[in-house]
Amino acid sequence: MNQDQLYKIYKECNVSENVFLFGEKVLLELQERFLEIDRIAEYNQMKVIHAMQTNRVSEACLLGTTGYGYNDIGRDTLEAVYASLFGCEDALVRPQITCGTHALALALFGNLRPGDELLSPVGKPYDTLEEVIGIRPSRGSLSEYGISYRQVDLLDGGEFDFEGIKKAINSRTKLVTIQRSKGYQTRPTLSVERIGELIQFIKSIKSDIICMVDNCYGEFVQTIEPTDVGADLTVGSLIKNPGGGLAPIGGYLVGKKEYVENAAYRLTSPGLGKEVGASLGILPSFYQGLFLAPTVTAAALKGAIFAACLYEKAGYSVFPNGIQERYDIIQSITLGSAEGVIAFCKGIQSASAVDSYVSPEPWDMPGYDSQVIMAAGNFVSGSSIELSADGPIKPPYTVFLQGGLTFPHAKLGVLKSLQMLLNQEILEDVFLGKS
Ligand SMILES: *Cc1c(COP(=O)(O)O)cnc(C)c1O
Repeated sequence: MNQDQLYKIYKECNVSENVFLFGEKVLLELQERFLEIDRIAEYNQMKVIHAMQTNRVSEACLLGTTGYGYNDIGRDTLEAVYASLFGCEDALVRPQITCGTHALALALFGNLRPGDELLSPVGKPYDTLEEVIGIRPSRGSLSEYGISYRQVDLLDGGEFDFEGIKKAINSRTKLVTIQRSKGYQTRPTLSVERIGELIQFIKSIKSDIICMVDNCYGEFVQTIEPTDVGADLTVGSLIKNPGGGLAPIGGYLVGKKEYVENAAYRLTSPGLGKEVGASLGILPSFYQGLFLAPTVTAAALKGAIFAACLYEKAGYSVFPNGIQERYDIIQSITLGSAEGVIAFCKGIQSASAVDSYVSPEPWDMPGYDSQVIMAAGNFVSGSSIELSADGPIKPPYTVFLQGGLTFPHAKLGVLKSLQMLLNQEILEDVFLGKS
C-alpha cells in the first residue's frame, strides 16, 4: 500500500495530510529501534509460551470454579505459569486482587509486623502507596500498626545514595520497596540491571531484608525481570502490561514461597491462604492476556517512542527523549499550558474505539492538589495498558501518555493529539513544515 492509499483512512479520521506526513517522516527514522523492540517481544513471547507448555496448560485450565474455589486447577496452573515465567518459587495471581495498590498492600501487610521498618531507597513511592504506608495519615495504614517507614531519595543525577541507604538500614529494617517505573515523577525509570545492583548492595549490608519490587508498567519491556536479579517479591497489576489488555481486573505477586504465602494469608485469611478464591469465569482472559502481553507491551512501547520523537520534533520537551533507553511504557510530554494539556487529552480520547465522542474535562480528583484531566476511551475501565493520557492542570503542564494495545492505535492517538493542538492554534503549522 502506498502512502496516498494509507492516508485515505487517516483523512476519514480527521487527520490532516500535514500531520500524517509529519508522522510518516518520524516513523521512517524509527525502523531500527522498532526492530529491536520486536526482538524483545519475540523473546518474551517464547518465554510465555514455554512457561505455559512446561506447566501443561490445558483446556480444562480455562474453566472456572465457584464458591470456595478449592482445587481450582486453572487458577493453580496459572500461578505455576507465572512462577516459571518469572523464575521464582511461587506466585499469587488473582481477580480478588483489585488493583496494583492492593497487590502492593498485600505484600507489605503480609510480610511486615509491628515494630518492623519499611525502607524505600529510591525516593517517594507511587502516590497511592503514601496512604498504605501512612506517609499521609490514613486509616488502616502500616503506620497505624506500628510499622515505621524510612526513605532515602535518589541523588540529583538519579543515582542511588548508597551512603544514605547504608545509614538508613538498621536492625528493624525488614523490607525494602523498590519502584521500577518512575510513575508520574520526573526521575528516570530503573533498569532491571540497576535494580539488581541495588538489591546486591542492600543484601550485602543485611542479607535477610526482603527486597520487593513494584513492577508496574515494567513487565516485558526488557527480557529480564526483577526476579532474575535477586528480588524476593515482585508485584504488579493485571490491567497494566501482564494482562495484555484482556484481563478485566487483577494483580499478581511472584517470589519466594514464604513471602507469597504471607501475602495470600492477608488476601484471604490466616489458615486459608492460596487454597480458596474461586476464579469464576475469568481465567481465559488471564491466560490469553498473558499470552498477548509481550506484543501488547511492544506496541505500547513503540507508541511512546513515536510520541517522544514526534513531539520532540514539534519543539516540545519530552521524557524520556526519542533516543533514550526505556524501562517502562510511560511517556511524558511537557506542553507548557493548560490549554495544551487539555487539547492533547481530547485528541487521545477522540482516537479511542470506545467513547470517542466524549470530551474529557479537568476535574477535582480526590487526593490531588490541582485539577486533573484524563483521556481513556477504554474497553477495560481505567486500564492503562490501553492508550490513555492524563495530566495535572499545573505547571509545567506535563501530560503522561501510556499504553496502546496495537501500534496503529497508539499512532492514531498521537497524531490526533497533535492535530488537536493545531486545530486549536496552540501549535503553529509552520513547525511541522520546518522539521
Ligand atoms: C499503577 C501503579 C501503581 C498502582 O496501581 P493501581 O492499579 O493504580 O492501584 C503502583 N505503582 C506504580 C509504579 C504504578 O504505575
